[in-house]
Amino acid sequence: MPVIQFEGVHKIYDLGEIQVHALRGLDVTIRRGEFVAIMGASGGGKSTFMNLVGGLDRPTKGLYKLDGVDVSTLNKAEMAGIRNRKLGFVFQGFNLLSRTTALENVELPALYARLSPAERIERAREALRIVGLADREHHYPSQLSGGQQQRVAIARALMNRPSILLADEPTGNLDSRTSVEIMGIFQRLNRERGITLVLVTHEPDIAEYAQRVITFRDGKIRRDERVAHPLNAEQVLQTMPVVGVED
Ligand code: ADP
Ligand code: MG
Repeated sequence: MPVIQFEGVHKIYDLGEIQVHALRGLDVTIRRGEFVAIMGASGGGKSTFMNLVGGLDRPTKGLYKLDGVDVSTLNKAEMAGIRNRKLGFVFQGFNLLSRTTALENVELPALYARLSPAERIERAREALRIVGLADREHHYPSQLSGGQQQRVAIARALMNRPSILLADEPTGNLDSRTSVEIMGIFQRLNRERGITLVLVTHEPDIAEYAQRVITFRDGKIRRDERVAHPLNAEQVLQTMPVVGVED
């Protein structure tokens, strides 16, 4: 079942004087339950692709279907609704509100959902449990390590129970052990909840935790390969030394 379908997608940024041709005719299909890593040199179009997938921007030309729906037929409010219900976003810089506890940060995406405050808190607690942070709900971001902050951000992305998670360099600010821990959370969400994952990384060893690697270059797909034997984060963690205790 295809969830993300691009056919002949171009994206041109019109800067008046010049036009930047960021995507040059992209054809790609991602199916439900896939775990895809997006790689490629800087400027290749990865973030532009993610912005289109996430409905934050539209193709200049070509077709994008999300869950079978041609997004060009949706108005802004409809697109925002679909974004809230189907998609979760995780960023390199965590993007947490600093004067707000972990629990409140996680609750934020549901502020406008039709949930009672009690249901909202219950759901946020469950999301924190899923990422292994049940005991940190009253901590502020500054009281959490980088890995813990990213886990709060993942919990926040799970709040509206998305079927697709989009992550742009989610381990870019983390040390290698913490990066593998985060990949383990993504693998578990993919395996146990069937969440489709699309994750940008420039680190080849991070891409090995995905099932498929798509490499961008100059606005085109250069390679699109299945990973024969994806690494299992839980197994890899057992072989890694614990440097400093993250607890
Ligand atoms: P990547 O994420 O792979 O580094 P990007 O998608 O950010 O690549 O960029 C692809 C190309 O589009 C680059 O040449 C970049 O400078 C250009 N670009 C990206 N975003 C914008 C924008 N908002 N306005 C103009 N040009 C942009
Ligand atoms: Mg980028």
